[in-house]
Amino acid sequence: MPELPEVESLRRMLEQSACGRRIVAVHIREPRLRRRVASTFDRMIAGRTINAVRRRAKYLLVELDGGITLLGHLGMSGSLTHRGQDFCDGEFDPAHDHLRFELDDGTALVYNDPRRFGLLKLVCSSELGAVDELRALGPEPLEEAFSAQYLFEKTRRRRVAIKNLLMDQHVVAGIGNIYACEILFGARVRPGRAAGRITRAEAERIVVHAKGILAQAIGSGGTTFRNYRDSRGQPGRFATSLQVYGREGERCFVCRTPIKSKLLGQRSSFYCPCCQR
Ligand SMILES: [Zn+2]
Repeated sequence: MPELPEVESLRRMLEQSACGRRIVAVHIREPRLRRRVASTFDRMIAGRTINAVRRRAKYLLVELDGGITLLGHLGMSGSLTHRGQDFCDGEFDPAHDHLRFELDDGTALVYNDPRRFGLLKLVCSSELGAVDELRALGPEPLEEAFSAQYLFEKTRRRRVAIKNLLMDQHVVAGIGNIYACEILFGARVRPGRAAGRITRAEAERIVVHAKGILAQAIGSGGTTFRNYRDSRGQPGRFATSLQVYGREGERCFVCRTPIKSKLLGQRSSFYCPCCQR
């Protein structure tokens, strides 16, 4: 499932390749995503120019002229690819190409999603902060508002596992299972620890590693564990840098102890029983 680094990598590429292009037509082959894509999509979008591509948490915000923004979430298996000259189409089943946005230079943005958990909807750009999906989100982890003091205060009197707190989008936006595991390994804190038992020093380490790991993952184009692909159809390169995620039974790179896995809130949590306390 794409998290912040994957969506940010995608955003950067689309900003380079699609900004300033005009959408000439929208073809909807399958409107049944997480929610049904509005039948007015084509009428509302066709003729508009892509002014900016922004991101909030795991949401992609494609700002069109005329005060309309296309809000997108890739769900479990979605991808938005720019099908032009350097697109590599090897792994995309055309049966799952649900929406196609034709651009004025003959290329197209294509939304492909085998499991159809993604979301695409139009919102007024001026009311973006008030839409249900974005309204209650916590700060962006890479921004200053996500500080050690902020996290420490959010953990006080909380019995929830620290990993689940990091994945709570109201506390901090954009962190999912993969990066929560990696951040806690970096901070040497066990994922199952009660948030309220985290010390000020540990909150500091968690925040430092959150910023460092997310920035590094963005620099590597994100992580492809199963199906994330960037706008050119390429996988992210951060998977080779993962320290614990998906490595159950393999040796810790730091101390050689086998990595353990434990279910927390129905998600597998990976950690080193020796390095993390
Ligand atoms: Zn270890």
